[in-house]
Amino acid sequence: MTYDDQNIFAKIIRGEIPCDKVFENDHVLAFNDISPQAKIHVLVIPKGAYIDIKDFNKNASDEEILGFNRAVAEIIEQLDVAQGFRSIANSGDHGGQEVPHYHLHLLGGQPLAAMLSKD
Ligand code: AMP
Repeated sequence: MTYDDQNIFAKIIRGEIPCDKVFENDHVLAFNDISPQAKIHVLVIPKGAYIDIKDFNKNASDEEILGFNRAVAEIIEQLDVAQGFRSIANSGDHGGQEVPHYHLHLLGGQPLAAMLSKD
């Protein structure tokens, strides 16, 4: 699978469509999810063109990977999630990934339901 540079997060990175930004540096952008699944629902994305977590962890530079993970820590500190949170990275059809640009969901601000439904 090749990276589709017309995906919605690529357009957000290029500034072609707006987002509700919560954090930005050279390597990372984070913004509120447009359809939040919890009181706090932030998406953290690398600015580089990576399809999913495997593509990112396999092909991104050490600087990008370290920068992304440090930014995630900084964003978590910035959010009101001292009582805990959940991070999720969906991938592919079985993972239910809708946008083919790697993104980490950060969910919190309330007790979260079981991670997977039983059916
Ligand atoms: P996933 O199913 O893991 O690919 O998640 C994609 C997420 O992107 C969903 O939670 C959507 O609500 C969210 N989303 C889609 N378009 C936008 C947008 N323009 N701004 C913010 N979040 C978006």
